[in-house]
Amino acid sequence: MDTASLLAEIRRVFPPVPMPNLHDLRFHPAGCVQCQWLSEYLDENRGKPIDGPIIRYMHQELGCLSAKGWVWALPHYLPFCLTAEAAYNQMETEFLIYNLGPAEEYEAETRLRLSTLNSDQVGCLIRFLKWCEAHPHWSEYCPENISSALQFVGTIKA
Ligand SMILES: [Zn+2]
Repeated sequence: MDTASLLAEIRRVFPPVPMPNLHDLRFHPAGCVQCQWLSEYLDENRGKPIDGPIIRYMHQELGCLSAKGWVWALPHYLPFCLTAEAAYNQMETEFLIYNLGPAEEYEAETRLRLSTLNSDQVGCLIRFLKWCEAHPHWSEYCPENISSALQFVGTIKA
């Protein structure tokens, strides 16, 4: 799938949704400082464009973003991964791929984080991963992570 068609699909199936409230952004309800930092940072940036700096802040903490948070973030995060800025930074796309293909012990919680996606959105994540699979950099850099992610996302029933 070419980048323009993928972007069009992302725009169609991932409509922007309002940022969840501070507490609802957390994946771990209490006692996790990463959840606290991430939710407070996002809340402080509420209403601002969700662009490079915010996505860069999120990328290492995607495991601390709630299911509602994922539905809120993906309409911005996925298109960002298709930009030249993301191709240059690389980390945001890399961490998203890792998060979508978790180690076995994290499969259950990852399933929970992706639980509010509808079937079109799950299908779009698969198309995104196939785009990564065909991408000159990502196909060389982490092909095994991409196939784990494809396998895992393929098991999500939405
Ligand atoms: Zn956490």
